[in-house]
Amino acid sequence: MLGATLGELAAALARGETSSVELTQGCLDRIARWNGPLNAFITLDPERSLREAREADARRAAGRAGPLTGIPVAHKDIFCTRGMRTTCGSRMLGNFVSPYDAHVIERFAAAGCVLLGKTNMDEFAMGSSNENSHFGPVRNPWDTARVPGGSSGGSAAAVAARLAPAATGTDTGGSIRQPAAFTGICGLKPTYGTVSRYGMVAFASSLDQGGPMARSAEDLALLMNVMAGHDRRDSTSVERAPEDYASQLKAPLEGLRVGLPREYFAEGCAPDVLLRVREAIAWFESRGARLVELELPRSPLAVPVYYVLAPAEASSNLSRFDGVRYGHRASDYRDLADLYSRSRAEGFGAEVKRRILVGTYVLSHGYYDAYYLQAQKVRRLIARDFVAAFERCDVLMGPVAPSTAFPIGANADDPVQMYLNDIFTIPASLAGVPALSIPCGFDAAGLPVGLQLTGPHFAEARLLGLAHHYQQATDWHRRVPAHTPL
Ligand code: GLN
Repeated sequence: MLGATLGELAAALARGETSSVELTQGCLDRIARWNGPLNAFITLDPERSLREAREADARRAAGRAGPLTGIPVAHKDIFCTRGMRTTCGSRMLGNFVSPYDAHVIERFAAAGCVLLGKTNMDEFAMGSSNENSHFGPVRNPWDTARVPGGSSGGSAAAVAARLAPAATGTDTGGSIRQPAAFTGICGLKPTYGTVSRYGMVAFASSLDQGGPMARSAEDLALLMNVMAGHDRRDSTSVERAPEDYASQLKAPLEGLRVGLPREYFAEGCAPDVLLRVREAIAWFESRGARLVELELPRSPLAVPVYYVLAPAEASSNLSRFDGVRYGHRASDYRDLADLYSRSRAEGFGAEVKRRILVGTYVLSHGYYDAYYLQAQKVRRLIARDFVAAFERCDVLMGPVAPSTAFPIGANADDPVQMYLNDIFTIPASLAGVPALSIPCGFDAAGLPVGLQLTGPHFAEARLLGLAHHYQQATDWHRRVPAHTPL
């Protein structure tokens, strides 16, 4: 049962073939068996999960069930949960219990989903490997010596290892798509502003976007129906009529124009990755899609631009952690300034400190114009590249990351090498457009490869529909990691 997709589980619940209590208990049993080696969850509360499951079963019995009522969902530990700690992978928030729920958490509760636990992540979502967590690295269920990707690596590992049928993530520069690719699952970064950031701990607010992680495109659509929608508490939340993503999966492929950005097929990408990606694209071509070669000429600038803008925003957002109002407070200090600096020195890890230093520098007097303002201008040009590309095609396809999952520790001493992992995911983040990662095969070492589909603003349904077609004809998304057999 736990190998099934969300859509299949929802159907089984609706037919009365299983109950939420049974499903939730099944997940908890697998977590008890596999969370030790994988370290995918930071916080669990089995009693609470089972109580919510009983409530969901009662709601169904009363005839008030929605499409996902009773489904257990794991949440990235960046989403605030009342009554359960929200650590954001940091010592700084190690004991923090939010007085309110994030919008996303409220939505899942209203849909009758069960909160299965809070998943491990890179500290404050800064990272591409989940090695930056205060709670220790997450391991990839396909090869436990390797990283699951990051920063939503706990959610990715939990879904891949069938500890949870679905999870939430957040993506600032690739943190949903890259871990999805590394673990052989599906992940969608929606258009910026589609999912409310209310109660989502802020990293780089102009880029942060919550999204779903699951095993099929259909599952992502079902989750988007719950997560997406306007929220007046987030000033960047887009006011749009609600969309039913799940009802649009069958759109025809004929006449589809697939754009292939030259920069995404250049050197530097592992040959196996390119091979699998090209095979997937050839499948779309065999179904009537037309391939269009094009350029995203400024995409080579995306990583440097991101590593000015994201740290700048982070340095501002993280100034709230001062040891006074909430979060870690040093026990020993001389005066107020000493309290601030000791609390922050003790509470933040090395990568977070590096970002705060860089961000403070690029925003400081004399450097603001040279770095921050310049990066803002280039960001605008990168966004225009996408506008121009989407005049010539309906969807862009290419790799998600330049390699498959790398060994734990491989990039430990080289932050720039780590940053380059996001070379194919950051451009869509800077442009605010939706992008989807789906599994499209394996490399020679048996590690999953991801295909990235990128669309114009609000084209989520189109991306999900294309992925759904592909998943009707392929079974990459159904493969179970050998390390965590069912
Ligand atoms: N890996 C990128 C970073 O470290 C992106 C992280 C994210 O999307 N949250 O900033």
